[in-house]
Amino acid sequence: MEFGNTSATDLALLVSNGETTARRAVESSLDAAEGLNETLNTFLEIDRSGALNRAESITGREGVLNGVPIAIKDNLCVRGMQTSSGSRILGDYHPPYNATVIERLLQAGAVIIGKTNCDEFAMGSSNENSAFGPVKNPWDVRRVPGGSSGGSAAAVAAGIVPVALGSDTGGSVRQPASLCGVFGLKPTYGRNSRYGLVAFASSLDQVGVFGRSVSDVATILEVIAGRDPHDATTADIPVPNYSAELTGDIQGLRIGYPRALFGEGLDTEVRASVESAIDAYRELGAEIVDVELPNAKSCIAVYYIIATAEASSNLARFDGVRYGFRAEDAPELRQMYRRTRDEGFGAEVKRRIMLGTYVLSAGYYDAYYRKAQQVRALLREDFRKAFESCDAIITPTSPTPAFLLGEKVDDPLAMYLNDVYTVTANLAGVPGLNVPCGLSTDRLPIGFQLLGPYWSESLLFKLADAYERAHPFTARPPIYAA
Ligand code: GLN
Repeated sequence: MEFGNTSATDLALLVSNGETTARRAVESSLDAAEGLNETLNTFLEIDRSGALNRAESITGREGVLNGVPIAIKDNLCVRGMQTSSGSRILGDYHPPYNATVIERLLQAGAVIIGKTNCDEFAMGSSNENSAFGPVKNPWDVRRVPGGSSGGSAAAVAAGIVPVALGSDTGGSVRQPASLCGVFGLKPTYGRNSRYGLVAFASSLDQVGVFGRSVSDVATILEVIAGRDPHDATTADIPVPNYSAELTGDIQGLRIGYPRALFGEGLDTEVRASVESAIDAYRELGAEIVDVELPNAKSCIAVYYIIATAEASSNLARFDGVRYGFRAEDAPELRQMYRRTRDEGFGAEVKRRIMLGTYVLSAGYYDAYYRKAQQVRALLREDFRKAFESCDAIITPTSPTPAFLLGEKVDDPLAMYLNDVYTVTANLAGVPGLNVPCGLSTDRLPIGFQLLGPYWSESLLFKLADAYERAHPFTARPPIYAA
C-alpha cells in the first residue's frame, strides 16, 4: 500500500499537484480495506465501485480533501451505502440522503470508501455488541479495539485510511482512539450537525473525528463543523481556522491536573505514561495546576441513567414498520412489533431499553432520571469552576490499555467502568481529545485526554500538537497496511 503513512492533507496536496491521482489513492485504500477485513472485521461495507467512480470524477480542485479516502461509522447516513448501526434491526437499510457532515466531506473532495463496524446503536466500549461480530485491535488481534466506533479507530490505526468519522456519546471516539493509538476528538456539543446520525442519546451524541495526526483531525473538523439548519442544536458560532492554531507555542498555558481521578482502578502503566505527559507539558512551558471535579465520581451512574433514558425513547421508532428488519410469521400488529424488536435488537440494546424505560417510569422518574439531571448540572458547574483556574484539563482516556475479547462481556458493570474518564465531557458538553502517548510493556497503546471549555477545540489542538511535535507517536501496529 503506497499511502498508508501519508496524512490526509498531504494526500490532498499530491492529488491537487497532479503528483498522484484520486484513483490511485482510493484504490490503494480499498485494497488495504479488503485485504485486512478478514483479519480485523473493520468494515461492514466496502463500496469499491462507488468509491472508484467518484475518485475518477475528482479533478483536484474540489477542496482540502481532494481524493482523500475516508471511512465512516455505520451509524452515519451515506447515500448509496447501508446504514445498519451495527444492528440486525436496521438490516440493510439504505438511507436516501447524506448526513450533513458527509455532504461537507464530499464538497471538500473526500471519497467515502465504506462503512465501519461498531457496537449496536453505538452502545458499548469494546465493539463486541455489534450484530456482525467484533472488530479486532490491529495491535493485538486477541484484543478489543474499544468501542463503540472501533471499526473507524482500527481502520485509521491500521493505515487503511488517514482519517475516519465516528460518534461519541460517552467516549466512543476517544476510548477506541486511545486503545488503537490514534488521535480522536469529541467536539463541543453543538459544534457538528447530528442530522443523519442514528440517534442514541440526543443530548450527548456528537460526531467525532479520528486521525493519525492532530493536523488531520483539525482539517476534518474545519470541513464538517458549523451551523446546520437541519439540526437546531448546532450553534451559530463561526468555525475557526483550526490548522492555523498549530504553532507549537503553549508557553504559559495552564493545564489542570485532577489528581483525585488518578486513583482507584487506574492501571499503573497508564498512570505512569499520563504522568510523564504531564511532565512533558511542564517542560514545554505549560503551568500545571491542581483542579477538582468533585462530582466526577458520580459520572458513570449519571451517564447510564440519562443515556439509557434517551435511548429507550429514540429506539422506539424501530418497530418493523418504517425501517429495516421485520419479523416473519406475525399476523397480528402487536405481535409483529414484539417479535421484530425481540429478534432485531441484541442483548445490550435490550438491557438499555429496559433500564431507560425503568428510570423514566412513573414513581422512579424523580428518584433516577430527575436526580441524574441534577447531578449533571452540578458536573457542568464543576467544569465551569475548574476552567476559572486552568485553560484545559488532562486525564487518562481509558483506565487500561486494550483488554481481551470476551474478558468483560459477561460483566456489564466492568464494561461500563471503562467510560469513567470519557462520559464527563458528554454530560458537560465540553470537547475532549485523545492523544496517543506511549506503549505498555505488552506493546499496547496508551493515550491521555485533554478537556477544554466550550468551543475550545483550537486550544486542544494547539496543546496536542505541541506534545506531538516533542513526542511524536510513530509506532505502528503489527497489522498495518503500509
Ligand atoms: N461506552 C459508552 C456506552 O456504552 C459510550 C458509547 C458511545 O459513546 N456511543 O454507552
